[in-house]
Amino acid sequence: MDIAGKRKDFTIYVADDEESIREIVKETLVTAGYQVETFSSGESIFERVKDSPPHLIMTDIRMPGMSGIQLLEKVKELSHDIEFIIMTSHASLETAVNAMKLGAYDYIHKPFENLTDLVNTADRAMSSVYMRLENDQLLEELAEKNKLLATVNKRISQENQEIHLINALMQRLNQRVDPDGVIQIFLDSISALVEGQPVLFMKHLTAYSSLVATQASKIPIDQIKNLGINLADFDVKKLPEILMQPQKIGPLNELMGEVFKIPQFYAFPFVFQDQPMGVVIVFHQVVNEAMRRLMESFAQITRVSYDNAIMAKRIHEMAIKDPLTTLFNRRFFNEKLDEEIARSRRTRYPLSLVYLDIDHFKKYNDTNGHPMGDVVIKSVAQILIKTGRRSDVVARLGGEEFAILCPHTSKEGAAIKAEKVRLIVEATKFPHGEKQPMGKVTISLGVSEYPSVAIDAATLIKSSDDALYRVKQAGRNKVCLAEPPMGFQREFEPLAVPMYAATGAPPSPGGSAA
Ligand code: GH3
Ligand code: MG
Ligand code: MG
Repeated sequence: MDIAGKRKDFTIYVADDEESIREIVKETLVTAGYQVETFSSGESIFERVKDSPPHLIMTDIRMPGMSGIQLLEKVKELSHDIEFIIMTSHASLETAVNAMKLGAYDYIHKPFENLTDLVNTADRAMSSVYMRLENDQLLEELAEKNKLLATVNKRISQENQEIHLINALMQRLNQRVDPDGVIQIFLDSISALVEGQPVLFMKHLTAYSSLVATQASKIPIDQIKNLGINLADFDVKKLPEILMQPQKIGPLNELMGEVFKIPQFYAFPFVFQDQPMGVVIVFHQVVNEAMRRLMESFAQITRVSYDNAIMAKRIHEMAIKDPLTTLFNRRFFNEKLDEEIARSRRTRYPLSLVYLDIDHFKKYNDTNGHPMGDVVIKSVAQILIKTGRRSDVVARLGGEEFAILCPHTSKEGAAIKAEKVRLIVEATKFPHGEKQPMGKVTISLGVSEYPSVAIDAATLIKSSDDALYRVKQAGRNKVCLAEPPMGFQREFEPLAVPMYAATGAPPSPGGSAA
């Protein structure tokens, strides 16, 4: 390494009590290119070192006051980066060796035989300093690079983890699920992200100007029942905008504080088809930037799945529902009937079927027009939906004919239900009902049951239809209970089921019950 070119960057302090020595050393080193300061005592050089440390100290070993050795010891206490060259006479060689043991870099003899030696010795010391400095700098750069590498590594591992979480969410969403199921998976994934803290979903019910809790993760469902906030005080036009920043919604803050005792939470909108469809509330105070980003990614993925689920649901409904009344169609009814017969066979509980038909409907259409007829069909369908049990399958079989499939119900129970429906229709004021032959819109109903009257789906339908036909023959607006044919053998004796909690006795078989 060529130190000559770098001498100007190094400072050397020279201490000797003899002025002539000081001067000759200084002149030699300055000529070589070093920056040099001279001192006449150990004390004065030490004071200067404290203020401004040099790279190298060349000191006489014997000085009045602080000796070279003492100076060496004191300076080394301050810093190990300052090199020492001891200037000594032949006589004190032993002391010089001792100085080397204490950390001096080298020693030179006085008087100087050759001034080039002086420069060479200084050069060697400075080369060593130079290499050390360069080494330090390299190490520093290396440490800096390592730090950078660590940050990059951390980011990659974080991104890996995020990709893993997103993948897990996508996999769960890929299993065919309904729209509510999609939201549930979304909420569960967010909860997992915040160490299993609860997450609540409040749906925006536009028609009611409110936010209503519909689903949650890590909160029992009965704890969120009937939970909602009224948004009627807000300007309807501004609601979409307000819902975009749910954290600022006053009533929501109150709800969280009062019901869940959570004064601080994180909330964000679930946007669907450009509208805030609901609000996701995370019961976790410290939702950091990375978590927020991830939640947004979750929401984006969920949006797509939710869209698909809604579409699939619509397609499914189109396939199984009658568009005019939204009741199930004949195809779905037939499938359900087969299923329920099989279930009844297994469970030994009876399955009943009510067939019903609007009376003199051709007359109604002829008098009031087809569109008005449609209104009546829709209204009758509504009555059937409202009077039905959850487990009942209400279907429009075609025209003005309907069926109610009642699982876990005896024919007596079904007849009571049928009579209830008949009474409601009779009492309902349909438009132009008074123009009908009986002065009102009425229905006729036939009731049958598996296994007491029928042996399978086909005979169950036929017997109900026959019973209905008998009502038409007998003057309409009645319920008729099907009877088993002569010598009928039941497939099994059905288990008893509790009757409908309706008043009135069941209609007698084959007779007019009304
Ligand atoms: P009954 O008391 O014997 O049942 O007499 P009805 O006139 O109701 O019986 P019928 O089965 O002969 O007539 C059914 C009528 O229902 C025929 C048709 O005009 C009407 N209809 C069938 N489907 C629809 C529909 O989708 N909309 C409307 N408005 N009318 C329908
Ligand atoms: Mg008909
Ligand atoms: Mg009819």
